[in-house]
Amino acid sequence: DNPVQRKPDWIRVKAPNSPIYQETRKLMRDNRLVTVCEEAACPNIGECWSQRHATMMIMGEICTRACSFCNVTTGMPHALDEDEPHRVAEAVATLGLRHVVITSVDRDDLADGGARHFARTIARIREASPSTTIEILTPDFLRKPGALPVVVEARPDVFNHNIETVPRLYPSIRPGARYFQSLRLLDDVKRQDPSIFTKSGLMLGLGEERMEVAQVMDDFRIADVDFITLGQYLQPTPKHAKVDRFVPPAEFDEFASMARAKGFLQVSASPLTRSSYHADSDFAALREA
Ligand code: SF4
Ligand code: SF4
Repeated sequence: DNPVQRKPDWIRVKAPNSPIYQETRKLMRDNRLVTVCEEAACPNIGECWSQRHATMMIMGEICTRACSFCNVTTGMPHALDEDEPHRVAEAVATLGLRHVVITSVDRDDLADGGARHFARTIARIREASPSTTIEILTPDFLRKPGALPVVVEARPDVFNHNIETVPRLYPSIRPGARYFQSLRLLDDVKRQDPSIFTKSGLMLGLGEERMEVAQVMDDFRIADVDFITLGQYLQPTPKHAKVDRFVPPAEFDEFASMARAKGFLQVSASPLTRSSYHADSDFAALREA
């Protein structure tokens, strides 16, 4: 009778309770930082936070979009907190991260979509932790001309923007977004600065067909996207989009092989893969290769 669908055995997560998990949690609270790990009710929080790997979400916890898969609150956000880039940088330094992932809510209310705030956050992290590699996971900057170059010029190491699902499902899953806008964003990053790695991902189990996923991979390669992530969609609450099916791990392996054959530099595909899951170790391995 549980209104949230029962998860299969292969989606098992450990309860978050280690001392380092508690330390990470306290650091986020003390610095008044928001994390996507909590806001998105991510199933990996126990594992990630026990390794001090938290993904901070800047520009508040209220989003101007209402994607039907996402647990983040929709509404009118607050004014930007000018001190936030500094506090994020402090937290990154305290955590001693070699790779950090910074994401944000969508800020359609701001003239630049939050591009300058992203750029300032990158700059503060660089100052405080020069050897830390920086990955950003950004909104689509739809109808924000001039926003993207501001972010690209701040030179993140990895520019991640999730396409989330196949184009056919956009009207129900990502109603405020446009598939080709997101694709073009990734393409534009590469054109503006080919030294930045680009990354994108899809959630599976929303009703997409195998051939549609293959087509998205081809679209990514045409846009020179370097890294791909594929994970199982999980319904955060009964109000969100339903899980169409739980994709078995063996099928994720098949998609991973397909992605490698298409030439992605880094492929992460498993039921619990999220765009920031193992981003630190994956990026370190790539740099050492
Ligand atoms: Fe946070 Fe990403 Fe880990 Fe989830 S996978 S807990 S969002 S760092
Ligand atoms: Fe969630 Fe991002 Fe959609 Fe906002 S734009 S509702 S944060 S997925």
